[in-house]
Amino acid sequence: MERTLSIIKPDGVARGLAGEVIKRLEQNNFKIAAMKMLRMTKSQAKGFYAVHRKRPFFESLTDFMASGSIIVMILEGENALGRYRELMGATDYREAAEGTIRKDFATDIEKNIVHGSDGPETAAFEIGYFFNSFEITG
Ligand code: ATP
Ligand code: MG
Repeated sequence: MERTLSIIKPDGVARGLAGEVIKRLEQNNFKIAAMKMLRMTKSQAKGFYAVHRKRPFFESLTDFMASGSIIVMILEGENALGRYRELMGATDYREAAEGTIRKDFATDIEKNIVHGSDGPETAAFEIGYFFNSFEITG
């Protein structure tokens, strides 16, 4: 069993796509072990995406991530990391495979609906960033 962190980004929540994303998670046999809605401050967004701090899009990305409500979830399942990244599709929606969340809904490389951890160490950091042990029902 693997755990990964999923975020429905501010564009996904604002566009009313949360239900659609959660439906796809359920249909694809992910167990939602924890979930909450919150809004990050700019400084929390910078901490979350610290690995990208030297990238040219860092300021814009962290402004965007702090611009509205997000839904944060812990997903559990066999190969959850890889399977969830597959369900999201490529970062750039133009390169995402048919039937993926980003292919179906994203219209911008930055505002791409969802986030998913990219490896086991990142997942552990990201889960700890948002959840304490009492909030994980899994
Ligand atoms: P995420 O980490 O959000 O799940 P990802 O792993 O597919 O997405 P990363 O390379 O980690 O992509 O980039 C993090 C986020 O930064 C992307 O999801 C997107 O919102 C934004 N981003 C990535 N590349 C660009 C870019 N070239 N221009 C603008 N924003 C970008
Ligand atoms: Mg990433």
